[in-house]
Amino acid sequence: MRPESLEFFKAIVNAPSPSGYEEPAAEVYRDYCGGFADKIHTDVHGNVWAIANPDASMKIMLAGHMDEIGFIIHYISDDGLLYFSGIGGHDSVIPVGQRVWIHGTERVAGVIGRKAIHLLEDEERKKKPELKDLWIDIGAASRAEVEAVISLGDVVTFQYEFQMLMGDRATARGFDNKMGSFIVAEALRLLKTDGGLDPGVGVYAVATVQEEIGLRGARTASFGIAPQTGLAVDVNHAIDYPSVSKTRYGQLDVGKGPSVMRGANTNHTVFRLIKDGAAEENIPYQVDVAPGGTGTDGNAMQLNREGMAVGILGVPLRYMHTPCEVLSITDVEDCARLMAAYCRQVKPDTDFTPRLPR
Ligand SMILES: [Zn+2]
Repeated sequence: MRPESLEFFKAIVNAPSPSGYEEPAAEVYRDYCGGFADKIHTDVHGNVWAIANPDASMKIMLAGHMDEIGFIIHYISDDGLLYFSGIGGHDSVIPVGQRVWIHGTERVAGVIGRKAIHLLEDEERKKKPELKDLWIDIGAASRAEVEAVISLGDVVTFQYEFQMLMGDRATARGFDNKMGSFIVAEALRLLKTDGGLDPGVGVYAVATVQEEIGLRGARTASFGIAPQTGLAVDVNHAIDYPSVSKTRYGQLDVGKGPSVMRGANTNHTVFRLIKDGAAEENIPYQVDVAPGGTGTDGNAMQLNREGMAVGILGVPLRYMHTPCEVLSITDVEDCARLMAAYCRQVKPDTDFTPRLPR
């Protein structure tokens, strides 16, 4: 990966951005896209649009959400402990024993506490802990000490940052889906630097907000842009490690290319144009099947106004919604290339209306 791109990737992944509190990631996104976009716009919901050819009437929306899962403080006890709710979907076995950052007036370190194993009753040992039974300890001895730096409604992230593993594999918290924001920005950059985009086609690379709590940013951004077509990109469950079934979920391998979804949530012409783009530019991909609506921004986008012709790309990811998500950075790069390749296939008069081939 190009060093400047890798720096941007690390910066946006490391920026704390639980749903509703995306400003730090948005700042990183605007800074990077400012280097090549024709125009940048931030809407009142917080979505950031980086645009190429803003005056074109055929519009493509590329969406990669920049919010991540996290926690929010809802109660501070008299003895200085912090109680929290989950933002987005958490597996409650994960937080126990983790170090966290609380994003107050300053960044405060804390730990998520649980009774030591020696003190657990037999019944408690067999049970999975729930978020409501956990707390954050920042070392404070009273509520007043906490309130000097932390307020109700402050958010919390795990103390994990981007790290390379062997080969082209990397781990981080929040690849889901700052990786997607990275990809839509890179796709726009590739179109601006390598060319091939029809001047009558506009591309809106949007870092969306609040996906993890119900695809909320994609809804408002889609309405505002009113594009005819769009691609959403998100992390996708790798089905390539022990205990997950290919017969149940289909196969998806880390390192074998981005996924291209086929099913009711995607438009057939978009799917075909993605395949054509991949063939012309020699980009590997894996087909992924979804029988109905998906839990991605692509779902909200497809239902925008009178409908949007949508495609959904994914990057295979292991251990989703944990602080140690794992992916291949080659897959990430190939996904950005595939997005750009799709945009090059779209012309001002492309008709996306579903019809039988003649
Ligand atoms: Zn997610």
